[in-house]
Amino acid sequence: MVICGGSRTSHDALYLCLAPLRRAVDGSIVLFGPPGAGKGTQAARISLLTGKPQVSTGDMLRAAVAADTELGREAKSYMEAGLLVPDEVIIGLISERLKKPDAESGLLLDGYPRTIVQAESLDKIESVAAVVSIEVPDDAIVRRIVGRRMDPETGQIYHIDFNPPPEEIANRVVQRKDDNEETVRSRLSAYHEQTAPLANWYGERGVLLRIDGNKGIEVVGDSIESALLEMSG
Ligand code: ADP
Ligand code: ADP
Repeated sequence: MVICGGSRTSHDALYLCLAPLRRAVDGSIVLFGPPGAGKGTQAARISLLTGKPQVSTGDMLRAAVAADTELGREAKSYMEAGLLVPDEVIIGLISERLKKPDAESGLLLDGYPRTIVQAESLDKIESVAAVVSIEVPDDAIVRRIVGRRMDPETGQIYHIDFNPPPEEIANRVVQRKDDNEETVRSRLSAYHEQTAPLANWYGERGVLLRIDGNKGIEVVGDSIESALLEMSG
């Protein structure tokens, strides 16, 4: 059965159907917002929609910490204190990632850039087609962060109240070391001081899509999808 119509093979049709924006969005898409806004939660859906591979700087840094690499040793104390790792460390990481063949049509950048310096550096090497800003007030953020859990086998993100893991997974989910009430306060201050000004920076460049993230997971996903479809005309 041809799901999306047209004269292509059913495999091609399914491919196009799953990624209707695969060719329409030229360049990278940035997922932007405070810690716990829902960037990681929405990333899989946007990646499927646009065909762009998800790259999370937080995940890359956590992998480096777990592997005890030089980068991981440098980043660890910043992450545990809820501070941003220095720009020069993270800029190198993303510049290398953008050289890989699967980044040719752009990446879905989850958590990068987070400072004006990072955005200026990205601007020199990559075109940013859209910045999806997921807006959530601080009081909702703390509850989201403290209740966040992750399945170490699949990387799937859950929440103890808002998106609880199925019974067979519940006993293996883990909590991130920095997902506690004290660290989240530092992360929120870092966000407001260093990251939030980027919204205007991208707004001035005409690529900012503002999304109300203080709604259910599905509703937020639908809003992002509509905004991207509308933007790509
Ligand atoms: P980020 O990647 O922006 O830090 P996550 O996607 O990891 O945020 O989400 C943080 C926590 O909030 C997770 O536990 C997730 O299940 C939960 N969450 C995500 N989106 C929503 C939403 N729209 N409503 C309620 N909880 C949400
Ligand atoms: P969250 O979205 O919940 O804040 P992330 O997984 O994106 O968490 O990031 C975890 C930590 O990794 C951040 O608190 C910060 O220390 C570091 N980090 C991730 N991305 C960046 C970045 N672009 N610049 C600086 N530090 C970063």
